[in-house]
Amino acid sequence: MSRPDVIVVGAGVVGLSAAIAAQMRGLSVVVIDREGPAAGASAGNAGAFGFTDILPLASPGILRKAPRWLLDPLGPLSIPPRYALQIAPWMLRFWRACSKDRVEHSTAAQTALMDLSRADLEPFLAATGTSAMLRKEGNLQVYESEAEFQASLPGWQARERHGIAFRHMDADQMAGIQPGLSPRFIRGTFTPGWYSIADPKLYVLALAEQFRAQGGSIELGEVQALAPVTDGVDVHQPAGATRHAAQVVVAAGAFSHRIARSLGETIPLETERGYNTTLPPGAFDLRTQVTFGGHGFVVTRLSTGIRVGGAVELGGLSLPPNFARSQAMLTKAKAFLPGLNGEGGRQWMGFRPSLPDSLPAIGHARASQNVIYAFGHGHLGLTQSTGTARLVSELLLRARPSIDLSPFSPQRF
Ligand SMILES: Cc1cc2nc3c(=O)[nH]c(=O)nc-3n(C[C@H](O)[C@H](O)[C@H](O)COP(=O)(O)OP(=O)(O)OC[C@H]3O[C@@H](n4cnc5c(N)ncnc54)[C@H](O)[C@@H]3O)c2cc1C
Repeated sequence: MSRPDVIVVGAGVVGLSAAIAAQMRGLSVVVIDREGPAAGASAGNAGAFGFTDILPLASPGILRKAPRWLLDPLGPLSIPPRYALQIAPWMLRFWRACSKDRVEHSTAAQTALMDLSRADLEPFLAATGTSAMLRKEGNLQVYESEAEFQASLPGWQARERHGIAFRHMDADQMAGIQPGLSPRFIRGTFTPGWYSIADPKLYVLALAEQFRAQGGSIELGEVQALAPVTDGVDVHQPAGATRHAAQVVVAAGAFSHRIARSLGETIPLETERGYNTTLPPGAFDLRTQVTFGGHGFVVTRLSTGIRVGGAVELGGLSLPPNFARSQAMLTKAKAFLPGLNGEGGRQWMGFRPSLPDSLPAIGHARASQNVIYAFGHGHLGLTQSTGTARLVSELLLRARPSIDLSPFSPQRF
């Protein structure tokens, strides 16, 4: 069996983007995934390149909304009672990350990674033959009251300080961008620099094809543990099988901390489970992505349908999905977009890989410079995939990273 320069664990959008970036820089790469490409969160997300979403989720604003949201068991944020004790340490860290100083620090780091990802996006799509999948339709955030709109203004001012363009709108102006919104939405903010992909699953499958076409191989298999050895890293798989590579990238999404644990490292990765329903194409004449921020969900036009989804359920990796959440968002979407045809949808749940301060982990493992972590992108894994891919390839080549990686240090907790 060949001994590649690099083994990437995980064939989601982060792992495959990193694998392609490494391949483009002349390294031989094998990707290992227990289910094959696009099996995890990367398949069913909302497809947004939300480059303007630079404010961390861990923020005073979320602390204000959380108590009200938690009262509704099918609302935007929920904690299943069976998981409450387990998630408590993560929640404490999240709460600590909401201080003013920490939010400013995270926003600056997030902005740097967003800028890098945006700069790399179109060249990466061109190099992988996926440019036709890019949509530049912006995002319309809508508000139901003047008070909700006013409460959003500090966030928009912070974005303005980071050079992000947006336009506040009244109902008539919104109708020019997106006809068919319920009159309950009296204000909105349009962000033109918010892009999306025609379909996130098809995009990852196209990346997988491109990676193979350039000589990469994708193997089906579970990675159980990593062991640094003198000339690289042993990758342990079930039944005693072992692969070897000079370097390994851990991009196993919400499961990555289990692999880190095999190296003696504890990383507080949790999952924010998210839900959606994908309706047939034509269910609504959607012209931009619409965010119902007060209700924690978005509606997105994909080439494969209209996707209604979002919500955060802090429920871990083992509890069964509660698809009443998908239904609850769909019911609201029908009220918010009265022309929406809610028939014929497919429901889905996915595991956002989330660290408590809303920043990913990008950097070396403590145990070895030959193991690189690239996980924990939370709500923004697709958005930040190209920037992360560049950073991973720089770490693999021992080159100076394009941005300061200290805020993303896997050892920061
Ligand atoms: C409802 C919802 C909406 C979202 N919307 C957006 C959006 O609009 N824009 C955006 O940027 N982000 C969005 N996200 C977040 C985004 O989907 C994730 O951040 C991103 O997909 C994470 O990518 P990943 O490659 O790290 O993980 P994944 O896509 O989960 O891939 C991890 C892979 O690792 C494999 N794996 C795990 N453990 C092992 C192991 N031990 N051995 C071998 N293989 C293993 C899995 O099979 C999987 O294929 C959304 C998420 C959800 C849930």
